[in-house]
Amino acid sequence: AVFSKLAERLQETFKKLRNKGKLTEKDVEQALREVRLALLEADVNYKVVKDFIGKIKERAVGEEILKSLTPAQQVIKIVNDELTQLMGGTQSKINLVSKPPTVIMLVGLQGAGKTTTAAKLANLLRKQGRRPLMVGADVYRPAAIKQLQVLGEQTGIPVFSLGEKQNPVDISLAAVEYARQGGYDVVTIDTAGRLHINEELMNELVQIKEKVKPHEILLVVDAMTGQDAVNVAKTFHERLGLDGVILTKLDGDTRGGAALSVKAVTGCPIKFVGMGEKVDALEPFYPDRMASRILGMGDILTLIEKAQANIDQEKARQMEQKILQEKFTLEDFLEQLQQMKSLGPLEEIIGMIPGLAGAKQLKNLQFDERELVRIEAIIQSMTPEERRNPEIINSSRKRRIARGSGTTVQDVNRLLKQFFQTQKLMKQLGGMAGFGGRGKFKK
Ligand code: GDP
Repeated sequence: AVFSKLAERLQETFKKLRNKGKLTEKDVEQALREVRLALLEADVNYKVVKDFIGKIKERAVGEEILKSLTPAQQVIKIVNDELTQLMGGTQSKINLVSKPPTVIMLVGLQGAGKTTTAAKLANLLRKQGRRPLMVGADVYRPAAIKQLQVLGEQTGIPVFSLGEKQNPVDISLAAVEYARQGGYDVVTIDTAGRLHINEELMNELVQIKEKVKPHEILLVVDAMTGQDAVNVAKTFHERLGLDGVILTKLDGDTRGGAALSVKAVTGCPIKFVGMGEKVDALEPFYPDRMASRILGMGDILTLIEKAQANIDQEKARQMEQKILQEKFTLEDFLEQLQQMKSLGPLEEIIGMIPGLAGAKQLKNLQFDERELVRIEAIIQSMTPEERRNPEIINSSRKRRIARGSGTTVQDVNRLLKQFFQTQKLMKQLGGMAGFGGRGKFKK
């Protein structure tokens, strides 16, 4: 998953810091050296890294962390803050105008995921109560319009097109007029790309911009292409003036450098990220959540939002409370595992759960369905009392549980270890939420 390598390295660095208790200047410097390397390895632009580390150093000195009671946490907090800033600080929404239709123009190179994203975005907006119209104006890539129509059928969102013979400006103008009359309040225009940036492409897009006057121009770039994506964004922004970037394929095995550099290099915020091929795999981009995900504090808010869309809301709320109040039990652990099944790829979900993100043991534990069945069996073989107070599970209880679940004592031990580790990390998370007064997890 995205950032997993970076997250792992940063978390290791901070773990070392935390274990030290009192820190010397040298400790901090060593940690920052590691942070620097980890970022470079994640393919973050080197100048961005340099500025980033510089800012952290400045603050680390300024805020006298070495004298503070919890120096390691202070360092982590500063890194968390700066990572958040680096990615834009706060969430950048799209600007929906008061006099509809809002016209959104999607631009980008071929293969970046523009057409798919046009449908995902329209789909997301419709979920928010809008009436979108999709426009097929990619007259260049063969079958792009057909592809949009298929996505339209799949989502039930209407598609406006005039075929591939018309020019994109005329198609777009006609579409906006059609939307106005038909009561559509958002229009997403899928423009043509090219394999590489060239004059023809830029001229075409500038034409559309001048004639159609879109309210939002969003660039779709492929996160897998790393710093190339950042350079593409820079060029497009210089020529077109972008309102935002949509980073696709963040579900893939990308190192994440683009996500961390785009804002700093271009000044353009990332507004959405593509997390899969399916039409619902588009998420608003939250710099603060992404930062805590990278630092292993988990992204409980996104998880809860997903849960709210997919599972019992009341249960999700209770879970959040339990985490905040440090009352997370084995029963909750089991329930969470069961609910995960309905939430999507396990690997992605695990990355969002505080503590689990960094739990090595869990990674080694081949997290497949069979394993889930085994964990379920073990927990179900416990008495309610044992589930609530796993501390009481002694050797004889372990043997009984193993027998009852058709597993071994080692399996039981392993599960308990994972659970205690999760619980401990959740406690730390509870502490995190309080320090610095930011109250990230307080609503
Ligand atoms: P376009 O040429 O820019 O219009 O690109 P397409 O929309 O046809 O997308 C190119 C390929 O990327 C398709 O196979 C999409 O399914 C895939 N794709 C787009 N967005 C994502 C994403 O967020 N994650 C993944 N894994 N694949 C994506």
